[in-house]
Amino acid sequence: MKARFSVTIIAAVAAFVLGVTGASAAELSPKAINAALDAAYEKYRGLQEGKNADYIPALAKVDPELYGIALVTTDGKVFTKGDVGSEVSIQSISKVFTMAKVIEERGPDAISGNMGVDATGQVFNSIVAIEQHKGAEMNAMVNPGAIAATSMVAGASREEIWNKILAYYSDFAGRKLTVNQEVFASEAATNQRNQAIGRLMYAYGHIKDNPDQATDIYTEQCSVNVNAKDLATMAATLANGGRNPVTGKQVLNSAYVPNVLAVMATAGLYDDSGQWLYQTGLPAKSGVGGGIIAVSPGRFGIAVISPPLDAAGNSVRAQKAIADISKALGGNPYAVTVRK
Ligand code: GLU
Repeated sequence: MKARFSVTIIAAVAAFVLGVTGASAAELSPKAINAALDAAYEKYRGLQEGKNADYIPALAKVDPELYGIALVTTDGKVFTKGDVGSEVSIQSISKVFTMAKVIEERGPDAISGNMGVDATGQVFNSIVAIEQHKGAEMNAMVNPGAIAATSMVAGASREEIWNKILAYYSDFAGRKLTVNQEVFASEAATNQRNQAIGRLMYAYGHIKDNPDQATDIYTEQCSVNVNAKDLATMAATLANGGRNPVTGKQVLNSAYVPNVLAVMATAGLYDDSGQWLYQTGLPAKSGVGGGIIAVSPGRFGIAVISPPLDAAGNSVRAQKAIADISKALGGNPYAVTVRK
């Protein structure tokens, strides 16, 4: 009896330690997760750094105080803190899921063989970067590669392609997503640079047909509305081998998840992707709408929405909150313990 009691105590202590320091999702305690979310929320709530994106006029009008955090574990538990009801446009985070769709339809070589998977070393909408390699060596997390990826989604009409993309994002989020029409109209009226990028990628043969349609669909995909819980569920689906842990639907073949995460790790946070990976080890993607998603493979997906961005274009609060929460929960996949 006494021995059994000690074993129970030891198991409880071990579970507590693992809950705080990491290991698999099942071992993360809800208490530790809630404490990490609460702490990060409070710590950065008053932070007044950064500025909303304004090159898309509608984004400048979004409430800069909006601040929501969500974490979804690979066993389907949802944790939230702050403003998780409000939606922002997904913007560049969409690039991850359109690339995933192309990989799902055509296999990983379609992406590496067309636009490439290396960092460009240039800003996300660089024309110079296209010229440097004639549109090759452009990963799908920057605009030329992303517009090319959108052009690769199979479909007989614009409507068919669009419906597939929106349905795919919705499967990742676990609910039917919709488009923010104001943001779509605002960006469509001001996206001449992206139209030029689409046409250049066409000129170099990386877009096979109808570059203007590809840019238009890309612009619409960037305008999809999401809240922090949607984004965290999308990230958690990647953390869970492509199966949405809340709905149970296999959205992406698990064999392709490493390809998607690799490109996120390489180029997910614009020119600060290396900095981010160095600090957190997490494949992630940010968007100029103020959202960031990050994936702790096998453990959880996390997302934070807060519109003010730093000079690199990444949400200031989101970076800090995700880094803190992941550290508290042992989310860094590179941080392994020594085998004794
Ligand atoms: N729709 C935006 C653009 O193409 C997305 C930018 C971003 O979030 O990085 O400029």
